[in-house]
Amino acid sequence: MTFLRAALLVAGALVFSSTHPLQAEQSYGTPPLNLKDHLTRLMQAYPDWIQGFDDQTLIMKDGRKFAISDQSTDKTFNELLAQPDIDDMFYAVYPAGTTPHQPEENNDPGRVRFEPLFVAMYGDCNKQRLVGRFRTINWLPRHQGGRVSMTTVNGVDKALEAASRELDNLPDGFVKFLKPTSGTFNCRKIAGSTARSMHAYGAAIDINDKFGDYWRRTQGSAKNPKWKNQVPIEIVRIFERHGFIWGGYWYHYDTMHFEYRPELLPSRTR
Ligand SMILES: [Zn+2]
Repeated sequence: MTFLRAALLVAGALVFSSTHPLQAEQSYGTPPLNLKDHLTRLMQAYPDWIQGFDDQTLIMKDGRKFAISDQSTDKTFNELLAQPDIDDMFYAVYPAGTTPHQPEENNDPGRVRFEPLFVAMYGDCNKQRLVGRFRTINWLPRHQGGRVSMTTVNGVDKALEAASRELDNLPDGFVKFLKPTSGTFNCRKIAGSTARSMHAYGAAIDINDKFGDYWRRTQGSAKNPKWKNQVPIEIVRIFERHGFIWGGYWYHYDTMHFEYRPELLPSRTR
């Protein structure tokens, strides 16, 4: 259980104290959720896979069980990224529908992913050929956006296709942000980290990187990245409506990046 409340500078390392998620929720002015609400959303987001949960365990439809908490209370931020448990995934609230701005320090909603759950659903690209689970879709067909390949697991391909249809109807001025795309499936870890990116499952898309800002590429450091964004909010809202969260809401921002994480979105945007 490592919901973050405050970052304490201890012996040169950032250590987070364990607390109830309420504080983190309230800082964005969104209705507070407790852990049970988060787990309910998680179950509803992945109905093909998750059977249910009890106080300690997430129960998969194939009988597998994952502990909800590893009982660790003092992970550093890097440990949170590298070895999260299930409840750590909800340490920061995804601020759907809000005006983007410089996020608070280490507030990266969605960037903490409990890897065994995602591997159980999408497969392990290091051990299996995942491309058999992929479908190629036409991206912005009205604007000849090319073809992109996404996983069919959890209907991510259909969700992206639906987002593409809406994006295709935006005024022409938006198209330059959306095409050419800059990648979907890529079997890799996140740069500078041992954690797997959602690209490794074929459940993420980078739109045109020419207009993307990435914390590693711009001024600042991991400690103090200065937030920048050029991606219009209309694009973000459409992705969110189809279950994708945006990397532009992260302290460690990546504004061309969208990934399928409906468990972090309020049901009205799903
Ligand atoms: Zn990306």
